[in-house]
Amino acid sequence: MAYTKTEEYDKDVTDGLVENYRQALSLLGEDPDREGLLKTPERLAKAMQFSTQGYGMDAKAILNSAKFHEDVSEMIVVKDIELYSMCEHHMLPFFGRAHIAYIPNGWITGLSKLARVVDVFSKRLQVQERLTTQILDAIVETLNPLGAAVVIEAAHLCMMMRGVQKQNSVTTTSAFFGEFEKQPTRHEFISLIQADLIKRK
Ligand SMILES: [Zn+2]
Repeated sequence: MAYTKTEEYDKDVTDGLVENYRQALSLLGEDPDREGLLKTPERLAKAMQFSTQGYGMDAKAILNSAKFHEDVSEMIVVKDIELYSMCEHHMLPFFGRAHIAYIPNGWITGLSKLARVVDVFSKRLQVQERLTTQILDAIVETLNPLGAAVVIEAAHLCMMMRGVQKQNSVTTTSAFFGEFEKQPTRHEFISLIQADLIKRK
């Protein structure tokens, strides 16, 4: 085997969460000792640590790790970046896609780094509005671009499975900086993220 993926979890955190989740299951009317639930607190403890790993990650360090001098001043767009996060009000998932663009001012970064920045801020308890501006700010502060833009489209389980039960609503948030505050640039970006250049599945 040439590649093995290993996951590491903090034992004290896992143990503490397991204790709490066992109690939560009881409070919800379940029997944490029945067969199907025996390993559930531990699985959930690990899933929650995975889903909040962004707290331990540094977006600017990631962008700086692949920062190159390049004399391009055309718009760079990375669209349809998959995104999974959790709303901080209900701790239920919201998920969708992020679209990012920037116009370099002498510095570019690796395209995959932009996708990782989405992970850094989405793997936390979030609100979609703050997630959008945190991604934008990290790009602006690291690359000092002429302009930057972030649009996020996401469906929120807290709206779909509880409360107002709006199954098909999608929330769109956006944040713009510099050149993207001007209409022509913003329109070009919006039309690029809507275009089907490569057929979407
Ligand atoms: Zn919520």
